[in-house]
Amino acid sequence: MAAPQRALVSVSNKDGLDTFVKGLVDLGFEILSTGGTRKYLEAAGIPVIDVTTYTEFPEIMDGRVKTLHPKVHGAILGRPTLPSDAEAIAEHGIVPFQVVVCNLYPFEQTIAKPDVTIPEAIEQIDIGGPSMVRSAAKNHAHVAIVTSPGQYSDVLSRMRDDCMDELFRRKLAAAAFETTATYDRAIANYMAKITADETPSSDAATDPTEAHWDESLTLSLRLKNTLRYGENPHQRAAFYVEPNAPATSIAHAEQLNGKELSYNNLMDLDAAKTIVGDFDQPAACVIKHNNPCGCAQAESLADAYENAHAGDPVSAFGSIVGLNRTVDVATAECLCEPGRFIEAIVAPDYEPAALEILTTKPKWKNNVRLMKSVFSDEGKGALEYRRVSGGLLVQDRDDLPQSDSDWKVVTARKPTDAELSDLRFAWKVCRHVKSNAIVFAKGGMLLGAGAGQMSRLDSCFIAGMKAGERSANAVVASDAFFPFRDGIDEVQTAGIRAVIQPGGSRNDPEVIAACNEHDMAMVFTGRRHFRH
Ligand code: 5GP
Repeated sequence: MAAPQRALVSVSNKDGLDTFVKGLVDLGFEILSTGGTRKYLEAAGIPVIDVTTYTEFPEIMDGRVKTLHPKVHGAILGRPTLPSDAEAIAEHGIVPFQVVVCNLYPFEQTIAKPDVTIPEAIEQIDIGGPSMVRSAAKNHAHVAIVTSPGQYSDVLSRMRDDCMDELFRRKLAAAAFETTATYDRAIANYMAKITADETPSSDAATDPTEAHWDESLTLSLRLKNTLRYGENPHQRAAFYVEPNAPATSIAHAEQLNGKELSYNNLMDLDAAKTIVGDFDQPAACVIKHNNPCGCAQAESLADAYENAHAGDPVSAFGSIVGLNRTVDVATAECLCEPGRFIEAIVAPDYEPAALEILTTKPKWKNNVRLMKSVFSDEGKGALEYRRVSGGLLVQDRDDLPQSDSDWKVVTARKPTDAELSDLRFAWKVCRHVKSNAIVFAKGGMLLGAGAGQMSRLDSCFIAGMKAGERSANAVVASDAFFPFRDGIDEVQTAGIRAVIQPGGSRNDPEVIAACNEHDMAMVFTGRRHFRH
């Protein structure tokens, strides 16, 4: 690098900046900066030229205009190898930049504050930054554009090794355009929202509880990793993650042991975590093909897992297990019982001795995928996306806190305390089972589930078959109403004593009469939990 090199540095997020810029200086770069960045770098003992010295034009209008100057953009966009550009460079005293380091005003963080005013938000719309970023990204044949502290070490080591080639600069440019596109989308969404909020028109707009849906939706996802294949080996697959995914999401789970996660593992781990996350008491679930074949709550995690496994020990082979407490030694021992085979486990943490057992004891020791994931309510209330041909269906996740305040006993007989506690448990599990969902439960334990059947009656039959003799004096939960009394008659023959369901069928009187005939207790929740 014989010619004098120049880097323009103008950043809001100053994380890791001093080390990076020192590295550039060591490589022989002259540094030009805007006001705040210059002060920060000078305080770190780095020599900096103020950009206003170079442009001979001050920062004006409270910093709204700092770098919007032809000598800055000419220095970024100029192609020194092109004679006409070289002429302009010489004529206007332009000194080209080879590196531009810029990250933008924190617009999204600003609007996330609950009491932010519109003028405060508007002031955080960066204009000069995105202009520089776009100029540099366009001219990536000559300029490296660095938009995130996460890129600093890679950029520096490539420069040190003299392998800052055009392909790498093009990758930086792609990331830069992604950054400005995401930034502008956030601004556009905010503008649409404040415009809608201020339009006193239809009833929907004046109802503060009405969900606001943007006119258009751009999902900005980043490739986390490719997967070996999708649901089947002939399907390609990858895991794309949301940039702001909460720490509680499966995207942020930490893998402590085991083989690479598969597409189906990720689906089932997410389901496993969601179910046990619904319980306050120690709880465990055993997932197969996205449905719980076992689920239980108990005084201890080990008991919860034992009961979850006992729900359907045959189906549990090759399962994904969800646990909502730190895995202790007792639970680890249960998980490793001979004859049990688990593909993956998700839990908030693992005691060191439990980890030792899980990674050394069973036959499948090296392969079991152990996932550590943060459990909290953060991230609840997120949206759920489903692709259909030609579009995307968007809905709130079905994660409203469960409450029994609206429940109504509709039969002559009221549920006993024990039945009521089983009904609460069954209702919690039921919303996580694919429709038509029928869940038999007793003593805080899932005994049998009919899942994903086209007829509710078939689901009743399957749940009864799975539960077998254990269903004597058990309860049943149904994700949607019973359209006819046949489902009630079916579960009664299995020994069910109490029912929980949303109600709301035209045939409710017939269904209630059937329960009364069988001396069963029935509760209506008024809320349906379809899950397709
Ligand atoms: P500093 O802290 O150095 O004073 O400002 C750095 C921030 O200013 C960066 O986030 C950068 O994107 C932004 N910036 C740079 N030039 C301009 C400009 O001309 N106008 C505006 N509004 N922001 C700029």
